[in-house]
Amino acid sequence: MGEISIAGVNIESGSRKVVKIPVTKDLSGDVNIYTHILTGEKNGPTLLLLSMLHGNEWFSVLILKELLKRIDVSELKGNIIAVPVANQVAFGTASRTIIDDSDEPDANRAFDGKYNWLTNQITRVIEEELFSKTDYLIDYHIGDWGCTMADIGYGMDYDDPKISEISKGMALSYGFPMIHSMSLSSRGTHSARTSMGSAGIKYNIPAIVPEIGGLGFGEVQEKEWLEQNIQGLIGTMKYIGMLEGSVDYCKEYLFINDYWRVSPKNAGYIEPLFGLERQFTEVEKEEVLAKVIDPYTFDVLEELVSPGKGIIFYMCRAYMSRPGGWAFGIANLEDGKSTWEKI
Ligand SMILES: [Zn+2]
Repeated sequence: MGEISIAGVNIESGSRKVVKIPVTKDLSGDVNIYTHILTGEKNGPTLLLLSMLHGNEWFSVLILKELLKRIDVSELKGNIIAVPVANQVAFGTASRTIIDDSDEPDANRAFDGKYNWLTNQITRVIEEELFSKTDYLIDYHIGDWGCTMADIGYGMDYDDPKISEISKGMALSYGFPMIHSMSLSSRGTHSARTSMGSAGIKYNIPAIVPEIGGLGFGEVQEKEWLEQNIQGLIGTMKYIGMLEGSVDYCKEYLFINDYWRVSPKNAGYIEPLFGLERQFTEVEKEEVLAKVIDPYTFDVLEELVSPGKGIIFYMCRAYMSRPGGWAFGIANLEDGKSTWEKI
């Protein structure tokens, strides 16, 4: 039976509970991690759903809220631990990272930390209280306002190939055709210091990072993305044996290996030349994607162009961005490493 103990609180099978896990005290007061626990009436694994390690990515709060509403604990095998706001401090300033004087302000680059920076303490609690009880991890990172994300990430190079294989299976069962195969052994953006890297390397937990959706695209579109994520979650929960039923796989998946981030060098109003109808379509080398307009003089500061032939998988709407802000992600089709595959 799905019974679990979190932060000293025992939760019987077939129930729902919210447990507040204290982390530390900041100048503004207590820092906590609120965890929603659903214990199934049947035996099964424990799935951890993390959201908002980055404090400006709140679309995933809605996904967790909706999923928990739809799950019937009498049919659930195992347990769900859902954390809508993992990083309360960054959320408090609606910013990606914690605004402090630390050298590790980004919580999703602060796992397995040595120090007592806020991010280290938050991720330490996640590791010690939650990873230690988790069989599978899904960590949501759905972009800032103005930019939609569109892929499912998984680690392809764990030391134990079985972790990569199961993670890949979780990604495919989410039923979304863009799969980002990430290298976690290298330094940089996707490293052992991320939730996914730490979970797989240190705790042998297979994991995925779904990035489907975004904010600022209108209620109709955003509800569609929300439903896509709920169906994806249900698919992955079937794959890992938490729900009955067969998984609806896509007919074909694009495995994204190398990709180009096309971002503005200058701050300004990014005006894309097209809308979401071009998402998941091909672009040619040097095709113009957007103009960046100076908000003071209205001059065109720069054009954002595709560095090569590829497929647009994430993109922005018209919005005001700072240098390096999120704009376009183009899967590289020139090196032959990103390929469409049937499974
Ligand atoms: Zn993020």
